Order: sequence, then structure tokens, then C-alpha cells
Amino acid sequence: MTHQRILLLATTTGYQTRSFGDAAERLGIEVALATDRCTTLEDPWRDRALPIRFDDEPGSVAAILQEAARSPFAGLLAVGDRPVTIAAQAAAALGLPYHPIEGARAAHNKRLSRERLRAAGLPVPWFASFAIDDPRPLVAGEVPFPCVIKPLVLSGSRGVIRADNHADLRAAHARLAALLHSREVQALRDPGAGAVLIESYIPGDEYAIEGLLEHGRLRVLAIFDKPDPMQGPFFEETIYVTPSRGDSGRQRRIEHAVASAARALGLHHGPIHAECRVDGDRVFVLEVAARPIGGLCARALRFENGPSGIPLEELLLRHAAGEPAASWTREAAASGVMMIPIPHRGVFRRVDGLDAARAVPHVTEIRVTAKADQLLVPLPEGKSYLGFIFARAQEPGTVERALRAAHARLAFVIDRALTVVSPPQQTSEH
Ligand code: ADP
Repeated sequence: MTHQRILLLATTTGYQTRSFGDAAERLGIEVALATDRCTTLEDPWRDRALPIRFDDEPGSVAAILQEAARSPFAGLLAVGDRPVTIAAQAAAALGLPYHPIEGARAAHNKRLSRERLRAAGLPVPWFASFAIDDPRPLVAGEVPFPCVIKPLVLSGSRGVIRADNHADLRAAHARLAALLHSREVQALRDPGAGAVLIESYIPGDEYAIEGLLEHGRLRVLAIFDKPDPMQGPFFEETIYVTPSRGDSGRQRRIEHAVASAARALGLHHGPIHAECRVDGDRVFVLEVAARPIGGLCARALRFENGPSGIPLEELLLRHAAGEPAASWTREAAASGVMMIPIPHRGVFRRVDGLDAARAVPHVTEIRVTAKADQLLVPLPEGKSYLGFIFARAQEPGTVERALRAAHARLAFVIDRALTVVSPPQQTSEH
């Protein structure tokens, strides 16, 4: 590959950015990192990252264009939800293939997404959006039950709550209002952060889809089963296993629905991560995010086009550099990850049983990302996991059993927090 420079917009300097760095080295590509972090320190991470601010889109785009004028980019890529709209504006200004700005905005905002899907004639639940301080949804008759109330712009199931009746909805609404009014969410300065979406509860099995759009054409990289029932009232992610055990007809319907939804949203070129629910023959796309699967979970995916495998990050860099992804397919083995949920609020002390859990056949890696003495906050307010368990085997059922067996051997010691006066929660990546 000839020398190329790719712009990577990332939320943190966590595992995934390091993996991009390794992949860039292998490919002989230069990666210029743009991240949102303290601009007053001079290169604190010693990676010469371009400092941008996610809450200042024009300023961030201007900084990127200035950098591009100094040394041009052959392509760009964004990981994490927040930098996507900035990436789209920079791509448009630089004439690089990526998602159009309107598509990136629609994918980021759950109300805009629903409106786009409905306008395209795709299946959507009943939905309505309200400012968080608007009391109308709490008036009898407005909302059908069961329903789900959620913020427009947070992710990772934060603030997503099922309500089966008015009393549930009032409680969920109050809880979500407290979250949206919190200092931490206000600090995002996201114009969508003051509103909620209420929609009918969609029953059915849930799937996650990892894909790459290549000039408007979707290439599905993996369909993950989510074998744990996600029926609420909160919706924590736990197990992802691929390949899917759904029959081929169902998988085709899922692929078709995600491709149609991505088109309806106006997404065009770059990674996507979608979630959908399948109720009988109907596929409801819950969301299509214009970014790849988050952080460590990407380690569940490896790709091959010969004897050696590459991680997702390398595939994404190749794609950003203009290489077609078609020659790469996911490895033959089944693979999965468990995002270890936080069982209750408290201070994390330690985990016992790690050696025993790592000894479970087919378990390839366990990463505990919670830090000793960290305050842990479960969903719906929290936004982190205790850690991640990875497994690989020939069959997806074996992977799922291995993940569960390893989890059962882990004992997390969490002291119930005694006081509510606490600093904002840290994510595992910070
Ligand atoms: P986020 O972007 O925070 O992940 P989602 O809208 O994807 O928010 O919702 C998170 C999870 O909540 C989904 O994966 C799903 O399990 C559940 N969920 C969201 N909306 C609905 C709905 N209308 N019906 C049933 N489950 C839902």
C-alpha cells in the first residue's frame, strides 16, 4: 500500500485507538488522530493528536481543514458516537467519501432516525418525542403501553426504560429527567440532550449487525445473536455471539432491513453498527449508528482473506484508505463477547475467580476494566461495564456456554455505596 494519511476521529485514547495504531504500522499508513480532550496541555498523550471539541463542530472542522491543508488526508474514519457529525462535515469539505452530514445527524438522533425510517415506509413502532420538561406524555391517553422511554442522543442503553402503565411511565420519566439534567449530560452540550422519545415496546429476538457501507452498498460483516432476553425494564447488553443461529431466511431479512434503514437514514460510506428486533417475519431496526462496534467488543471480530487474520480496526483502515472490503470475510470460528453488567451500585473492590474463569475451555480473554475503588453505577444511569469476556469455538452454542461458565466463576466484590455525594462516574476507558 502506498503511503497514505488517514484521519481518525476518536472519543478516547483507549484500546481501540491503540489497535488502529498497530494496524497502521502494519499497513504502512499514517494515522492522524483527532480527539476531544484537554487542549491546554501540550500533547499530554505524546501521540501528537489533533485536539478538537465535540461540542464545537465549526471549530473542530476548521482545525481539521487546517491540518489537511498542511498534509492531506486520503480518507477518514470516526469511532464512537460523538465525532461522527464532525467527520461528516470534514469529509464533505475535503471531498472524501463518508456519510453525508444529514445522514450522520439522522443516525445520531433517535427521533430523526424514526422519522426517516417512517418516511421511507419501513417498519417503525408508534413514537412521539417531547422536551423532557413537557408533562404531556404523563397525561392519560397520550401513550400506548407497553412503551419504552429513552433519551434522543445517549447510547449504550443509557436512560432506556420500559413502562407497562402510567405509574411506570411517571417513575421512568422522573428518572430520565434526573439523568438528562445531570451535570455530566449537560456538559455534553448536545442540543438533543434535552428531549426524550417514547415508543411502543417491540417484542421479539434482538440482533446486532456490524457492517461497512461502500459507496451506498452494505456489506454485512457479522450478525450477532443476543441470546439473553432483553425485556426491560432496563436493557443492558450482555452476550453477543456470531455467527447467528437464526435461519438463513431470517438472516437475509435482517440484512435487507438494515440496508434499507441505512439508505433511509442517508448513510453512504463507512462503518455502521445496527440493532434490530425480529417479531415473526417483521424486522424493526432499532437504530443504525454511523460507527463501528464499541471499543473492546471489536476484539470479538477477526477477518481473513488467506492464512492470516486481521482485526476489525485494520479492515476499517483499509476501507478508509480506499481498499474494497469484499475480499475479507469473518473468520470461520464462532466468536462472542460478554459485556459484564454491573449488578448494583457500589464501590468496586476486587474480582475473585479470574484464574478459574480463564481456565474455562474456549475462553480466550477476560478483561476487567473496572478499577479498584471506582464507584459503579448500573443502568439506566450508568455507562460502563465491569469488564469483558471473550470466547471462540467451532459452534456459537459452545461460545455462549463458555461465556456463561466463565462469568459464573467470577465473584465481583462491590461495597454498597454509603453516600450519594460522589463524583461523576468514570467510564472504563477514561
Ligand atoms: P442506545 O442507542 O442507547 O443503545 P436503543 O434505542 O438502541 O438505545 O435502545 C437500547 C436497547 O433498549 C435496545 O437494544 C433494546 O434492547 C431496547 N429497546 C429500545 N427501544 C425498544 C423498543 N421500542 N422496544 C423494545 N426494546 C427496545
